[in-house]
Amino acid sequence: MTDEQSKNERHKKAMEKQKAKVDARIEAADTERGVAVLLTGNGKGKSSSAFGMVMRALGYDHTVGVVQFIKGEQLSGEELYLKNHCPQVTLYQMGTGFTWNTQDRTGDIREAEKTWAVAEKLLADDRYDLVVLDEITYMIAYKYLDEGKVLQAIKNRPFEQSVVVTGRGGGSALQEVVDTVSEVKDIKHAFKSGIKARKGVDF
Ligand code: ATP
Ligand code: MG
Repeated sequence: MTDEQSKNERHKKAMEKQKAKVDARIEAADTERGVAVLLTGNGKGKSSSAFGMVMRALGYDHTVGVVQFIKGEQLSGEELYLKNHCPQVTLYQMGTGFTWNTQDRTGDIREAEKTWAVAEKLLADDRYDLVVLDEITYMIAYKYLDEGKVLQAIKNRPFEQSVVVTGRGGGSALQEVVDTVSEVKDIKHAFKSGIKARKGVDF
């Protein structure tokens, strides 16, 4: 047997083993229901990942609702796309801008409550296959929204409904309630070396 042949032979054996492991894991996952996902951490990629899931869901003609809690004045590309090309998607934006711009706690709380009322309806509506709560973690962190009530609504959502929660600082209570938690780690970000936020990449 040549070197190349024995390499191929070893590769085939390793892949067979790997396949057996993967097949066993697939076999063991026998629960079919909606999934709650938390995307948190200080790195870039939380909201864009959530919108990636929106696209996945739309690929299957699923019904999707997106509620955005902190929103700058600039609409980002994914929001423009949904507005212009996906009339079937329910999109609600808090629209007050960043808290450090509004500097108005009472006004922000009022808007957060109004936005939550929309989210709560979606989370109780079994026609929605996927609900995105973008940047809601800040509303909890600032205590603009009662954490207990948010957790309860996520817990009590329709059995088949999936929900994606994004934002930095998603705490332990939220982590407990959801099924999947991913922390996006900030290793390096272009902005820190003076590169401007880029259309189509950052917004
Ligand atoms: P994205 O929307 O690109 O997926 P994100 O949702 O993970 O990012 P946010 O905290 O919501 O991150 O911030 C959104 C904006 O801030 C984006 O323009 C993103 O590039 C930028 N950003 C994210 N993380 C960092 C960071 N660590 N340093 C500087 N800018 C960041
Ligand atoms: Mg985000």
